[in-house]
Order: sequence, then structure tokens, then C-alpha cells
Amino acid sequence: MANTKALKAIYDFYDKFLKGTPLACKKGCATCCTTNVSVTSLEVEYILDSGLLTKSLQEKVREAAAQDHFVPSTTINTSAAMCLSENQMPEETSPVTFDPCPLLTNDGLCSIYQARPFSCRAMNSETLCTEGGEAFMAPFLVTVNLAMYQILEHIDSRGWYGNLLDMLTLVSGNREGLQEAADTMEGKIKTNRPLPCFIIPPDETMRFKSFMRRLSKVEIEGGKTVGDLLPENWQILS
Ligand code: SF4
Repeated sequence: MANTKALKAIYDFYDKFLKGTPLACKKGCATCCTTNVSVTSLEVEYILDSGLLTKSLQEKVREAAAQDHFVPSTTINTSAAMCLSENQMPEETSPVTFDPCPLLTNDGLCSIYQARPFSCRAMNSETLCTEGGEAFMAPFLVTVNLAMYQILEHIDSRGWYGNLLDMLTLVSGNREGLQEAADTMEGKIKTNRPLPCFIIPPDETMRFKSFMRRLSKVEIEGGKTVGDLLPENWQILS
């Protein structure tokens, strides 16, 4: 519960941060709403707590999960740890499919919008994807998004990571469903790990530190801040 409060505080902070970014995305624009969304178990908990995932939506998710879909080969922090130790990054071998997300309404709206995961919040474009064929993000937003994925994994470092469809299907209302899946699902569900380092381009280091100073001060509850959940001396790999 405490960490879902932290998650909400981080989501709110990110939404405010985005207000200073020119965005072409608007209501009903759903080009990025595909079955390629990856999430942490904390985000799944947040979706379940919201009560927005109705029985009929769960059924749609289950049906979509039975089709071929993208499965991340590793978590973001595992990839960062591999970079840090100069190992090779794992290659994505899973097919990327562009089927529409089963949580999308016929009007192109998200059925769980208030509780949507970070992967969906992070999809922002300065130009219309429908016109240019792909999203365009300023380099610093790409940097911030990557760091946000890492932070969310860190605050859920005892949890799991996988495709939204698998995570929502396997969780069956409790986290034990994911533990069992992590043990038995042949790699479909990955185990989260703590933050090893942030990977930041050298010319963005100062700006990133300023972003982190502001995020760290965000209050969660009872005087506790987001900074209290992060490693004391987090490091940057440039
Ligand atoms: S969860 Fe919502 S925002 Fe995310 S891909 Fe599905 S419909 Fe789109």
C-alpha cells in the first residue's frame, strides 16, 4: 500500500513535469495503444486497486494474452546492470506485435486511464504519429523516461516485470500469482532488481541531477519522500 502511494506521487510529479513539454498527443489518439506494454507488479497492483479493471475487461485481457505478443527479455535495471559491468545487452527475441491494446475503447480511449501504467504515460510525441509514422520525443524526455522506468522498478524491487497482458492475467488478484508465474512461466515474468545506476548522456547530467533533486523532494506521506526510497548515493553512467 505504501508503495502504491509512492507510485501515485511519482505519476503526479511526472504529469506536472510533462506540462512544460510541447505535445501533439490528444484525447482519442491511440496509435501507441498496442499489446507491447511492459509493467511492474506495483503498477498492476495500482490498476487493481483502482477498481477500473472490470470483469469484462479482464476477459478481454485474457483473450489477448492467449495470442502471440511481445515479452520483454529482461528488466530495465537488469539491462543497466549489464551495461555497468560491460556485459553484452540481451537481445529482444520476442515478436513485437501491433495489435490494439484490449483496454482501448471503440472511441480510442483508455478504459483504465487514471491508473494506466508508466509505459503508457511515457508515450508522448511532439508531432502526430499518424502523420510522421512515429513518435518524436526530445532527447531529455527519453532520458527522463528511462530513469523513471528504473525508479519504478527500484521501488518495486521485490516484485516482477512483464507484458501488461501477462501480468494482469497471472496476478489473479494477488501478488502470489506473479511469484508462481515467475517460477514457472518459462521466462514470461521477470524478477525486478534494485537500481544499479542511471545511464545518462554526458551533456544531460546537470539537467538530470536537477530533475532528480525535485523528484527526490516529492512527499509521499508522513514526511516520507521519494528520495527516501532511492539509494542514498545513486550513480550515473555516462
Ligand atoms: S493501458 Fe490504456 S493507455 Fe495503455 S496501451 Fe492500453 S489503452 Fe492505451
